[in-house]
Amino acid sequence: MHVWIDASGEGANAEVVDVGTNGTITLNIRADAGTRFLQWFQFHVYGEPGVRLRFRILNAGEAMAPEWRDYRVRSAVMDESEFCCLPTRFDNGVLEFELTMQAPRHQIAYFAPFPSWRHQSLVDAVSLHPLGRHEHLGETLGKRQVELFEVRSVRSDAPHVWIVARQHPGEVMAQWFALGFLDFLLNCKEGTSANYFVIPNANPDGAFEGRHRTNAAGVDLNRAWNQEDCTACPEVALIKKRMSQQGVDFFLDVHGEEALPYVFVVDPEGPARNTREVSEPIAMFKRLLLDLNADFQIEKGYPSADGADLSLASNFVAEAFGCPSLTLEMPFTDTEQTPDEKRGWSPERSRRLGADCAKAIEKISSHMTARRRSMPWVIAQSCAEERQLFSYPVGSASISKNP
Ligand SMILES: [Zn+2]
Repeated sequence: MHVWIDASGEGANAEVVDVGTNGTITLNIRADAGTRFLQWFQFHVYGEPGVRLRFRILNAGEAMAPEWRDYRVRSAVMDESEFCCLPTRFDNGVLEFELTMQAPRHQIAYFAPFPSWRHQSLVDAVSLHPLGRHEHLGETLGKRQVELFEVRSVRSDAPHVWIVARQHPGEVMAQWFALGFLDFLLNCKEGTSANYFVIPNANPDGAFEGRHRTNAAGVDLNRAWNQEDCTACPEVALIKKRMSQQGVDFFLDVHGEEALPYVFVVDPEGPARNTREVSEPIAMFKRLLLDLNADFQIEKGYPSADGADLSLASNFVAEAFGCPSLTLEMPFTDTEQTPDEKRGWSPERSRRLGADCAKAIEKISSHMTARRRSMPWVIAQSCAEERQLFSYPVGSASISKNP
């Protein structure tokens, strides 16, 4: 039996321990270099069609979310874009699953990867759109670009909406979400009511290197927003700089959640959440999204924290700009109340959620305009203001939440 594993190339992550003659393939997941975070895996398997293979991931019990409850591995034939779900067993720290080869090559991953051709076609679509603009914000440590996609409104007083996706590179559904979000905006026949600033992949080095949680320097970007020295996380510095030039009236930080089977948002945790300018648009957004998208719910999510951790993007932006600011989480498994037996949580559902979020934001944009006029952004206008912001007391973060 000729079977081999290719764990090279963009986004790949697997270390082959053994390929047995009986069709059992033993692997480890590589931790993000310089850290103990491991979760994301991705590789190709080559073999004869019809052969039944058994995979064992030995160090799955050391993963960041080590329960693997109801987890199903994603598999696609050759380069087909449709991924199906393979059931898994988790026992004694080892994750196991089986695959019958239907073609000479299958792709296997923790979640359906976002192909680079899709990214490139999105660059083209935005660049060619009369109200679209594609911009390089600057370089990462790995010499890749942090890319910003803009869709401008024809309204002169339009608010500024920011979407940041995939700070955690293994949370690929966030980039699928951004694709759906931008698709909706680009197809608005009358133009949009808000100006949109979308970063579909905030961590291109991490995504390329097959990391789950960190950038090329091993930094968790969503724990770095209140750092004064961004030498090791230029991605955050570039986004904050552009935000400060542009202003922010609504912010959504898009993530994937490894354990919880829900789509939910997390309110900002600082004093800004108690202001009407922040709380009312957030309440409206949730009501609209509940009507638009059956996967979204507001009953289940993370427990609320004791204080605001300003190292998190959504907390930082809420306090810095005094604007509605949310973290949005999608499951890696499936939704409890709207399960899809065949595909689980999928790229298609992530895209639909992205489009529905764009619809909801469009509907509340008139309220955001009023707020922005009366409350301009405050971040980084002066060093003194910024230091004041950085020194805000940080609360204790619950270990059960990993936004
Ligand atoms: Zn995340």
